[in-house]
Order: sequence, then structure tokens, then C-alpha cells
Amino acid sequence: MLTVEQAFEIILRDVPAPREVVVALEAAAGHVLAEDCASDLDMPPFDKAMMDGFAVRAADTGALEIVEDIPAGKVAAREVGPGTCSKIMTGAPMPRGADAVQQVEKTRRDGGRVTLLEPVRAGQNVAPRAQDLKAGEIVLRKGQSLRAAEVGTLATIGKTRVRVNAKPRVAVLATGDELVAPDRTPGPGQIRNSNTYSVAAQVRELGLDCDDLGVVGDDREAIRARIREGLRRDLLLLSGGVSAGERDLVIPALEAEGMTLRMHQVLIKPGRPFCFAPRVFGLPGNPVSAFVIFEVFVRPYLGRMMGADVARARVRARLETPVTRKIDRVHFLPARVRYEEAEYVAETVPWHGSADLFALTRANAFVVVPIQTAYGKGAEVECLLL
Ligand code: AMP
Ligand code: MG
Repeated sequence: MLTVEQAFEIILRDVPAPREVVVALEAAAGHVLAEDCASDLDMPPFDKAMMDGFAVRAADTGALEIVEDIPAGKVAAREVGPGTCSKIMTGAPMPRGADAVQQVEKTRRDGGRVTLLEPVRAGQNVAPRAQDLKAGEIVLRKGQSLRAAEVGTLATIGKTRVRVNAKPRVAVLATGDELVAPDRTPGPGQIRNSNTYSVAAQVRELGLDCDDLGVVGDDREAIRARIREGLRRDLLLLSGGVSAGERDLVIPALEAEGMTLRMHQVLIKPGRPFCFAPRVFGLPGNPVSAFVIFEVFVRPYLGRMMGADVARARVRARLETPVTRKIDRVHFLPARVRYEEAEYVAETVPWHGSADLFALTRANAFVVVPIQTAYGKGAEVECLLL
């Protein structure tokens, strides 16, 4: 049996390198940059007024003659000489001669003249040319995740097509004779399929698309056919059928497809067993187990495939509910973590085990309990924030 750390290493070793694609600016959000991006211009491109008001010479006092009106998008025609000023709008280029802007609220206008009610410093309310960026300067680097601010920055520097890591395409497939679709009322011995929905939601939380291949019964040949379909994507996530039971046919199906299993048993609870072969995870059927294996292994796998850091935050917290039972596996316990009086505080939520998905709806974290460990109330524990 493998420890979580050993399993993690084996899995990450098999992650394919990100594929690069060029996408339009409109589609760039959520990707990771595969190139450095330099600005094609200074930003701001000219000395720019930062307030609506009057462009003045800071040293001037008294009533100043207004020589021009400069809206945004227009270049001043007149120079501001001693005793004069120009009316200016936010975003407009400064006229020659002026070195400051007094905001309109701090002036009194009298026909063609204006008096500053407060003096201004040279440079006040003016953003000098190239203050933010110089032409040719690299502003976004390869490996950076493109969020809203980065997308706006790409627009600013005129980068309308951008090289990024392709988003992996993922498919989910549930296996199990007992499974029915959520819109059906289960008959005797049946339950509703929830895993393809929860797992697909976990995939989509990473900003990735996920194809739902539905449910297949416990039939080796049927599972093989769906595996072939699923492997047209970058990653296939199966659920159920990975234990040692007679009707657990995912592993025989993967082997019949010529896949080499990299692992089967890992010292984790919930979640033992699951299986991994390159580009395929066989997640456990129990919903919380599938959820945990996704968080611990699949999420970092997809992150590596995207070239992005998608790790969940881990914090140290003070435990309010003791953990008495020592087990021979790393135990992930659903918990609520809150920040209180300058520390994180964790309490485990009542939970009936790996089938009890409802407990997870009351949790926002897992307490991660190492092998053969018990905790008293008040112990400092590691929590994985969801
Ligand atoms: P298995 O791993 O196939 O032995 O399934 C373990 C448990 O998880 C069984 O109680 C199954 O009924 C349940 N289960 C399997 N697949 C799903 C699914 N897609 N949604 C909800 N429960 C499932
Ligand atoms: Mg099953």
C-alpha cells in the first residue's frame, strides 16, 4: 500500500506537459499564459489628468484665464502660460506648460477666469507618462494565470491573441448497476447517481469543461467501450467499480484496454481503493470518497496539466472537537473552520462515513489527521480549506 505522498508523486509524474494554443482575448480568462507579454506602448501613453478640473502651473495664484477646454481624447492646442490655465477632463493629456491639475471642486469659476481655492503641488493629479509601464517592458509572464486584471492588461497592451496552455478536456463516467438518473425515483435496491454531478462540478470549479458520459452498468465490455470514448479527452474520471468485489469491473476493463495501473491501494480514508492509470482515474463509488480523491489527487493533476497552481489553502487550526480514534490511514474529516480572535478554529461535523455526502454540505474544510494519530480538544491540526 502506498502513502498519500508516494501516490501523489506517482500521479504527478504521469501528468502530460501542457499543450499550447492561441486564443482570442475574449476567451483568455481562466487560462495560464504560455508566453511573456510585453507592452507595445508607454502606460499612460502621455502625461494624463487624473481629475476633472483645471490644468495649471502649480506656482500660479490668483484668478487664472481659461485658454482652452481639453476633453478626454483631445490633444491640447494651446500652451498654458503664466496666469492662464486650461479646463481639463479626467484622462485627457496635459497641455504644455501646465504641471498640475486642481480638481473642479476646489476652484471658483467666474466667467472666463477661475480661482484656485487651495494651492496645488507640481505633479498633483497628474499621472506622468510611462508611470505604470514602459514600452517593451514585460508586464505578464509565462505561467501566470489569467484572471480579470490580467485580461484587462492584455487588452491595454493590445494583445488580442495570446498563447496559453490549453485547458484539459475532462469526461466523467459513473459505473454501477444500481444507479439511476437523478430525475428518476429509484426502484428497490437502486440509488440515484450523484457522482458524475459532484465530480463534474469539481472539474468546473477549476474553470474546465466536463463532458458527462452518463452511467454504465457493471459490464466489462460496456465499460471498455465507454472508456475508449472517454479517452478521446485528456482525462477520464470514472466512479465506482474499483474495489475487490466480483462486480467491480473497472480495473479489468482498463487492463483489457491495455492500460497499466499505477496504483490501487492508498493509505487514505475515505477513498481506499481508487485506481490511477495514465489519463484515467477510477474514483471510488462512495460519494465522499470520490470527492476526497478528487481534491487530493485529481485537482493537483489537472492543475499541473494546466500549468496552474490550483492548490487549496491549508491552515493550522485549533481543534474544538477531539479525534479519539487512531487509524492506519490518513483520515480526512469533514469540518467547519472559522477565523476567530486571530486564529483558525476547526470543529468536525457529524458524519456517518464515506456515503454521507450530506455531511459535506455542512463542511467547508477537512481536518487532515495523520496515520495513527488522535487529538485532544485544543490540539493544533492541519485543515484543507474547500
Ligand atoms: P462501488 O465502488 O461501485 O463498490 O460503490 C460503492 C458505493 O458507492 C455503493 O454503495 C454504490 O452504490 C455507491 N455509488 C457508486 N457509484 C455511485 C454514484 N455514481 N453515485 C452515488 N453513489 C454511488
Ligand atoms: Mg459498484
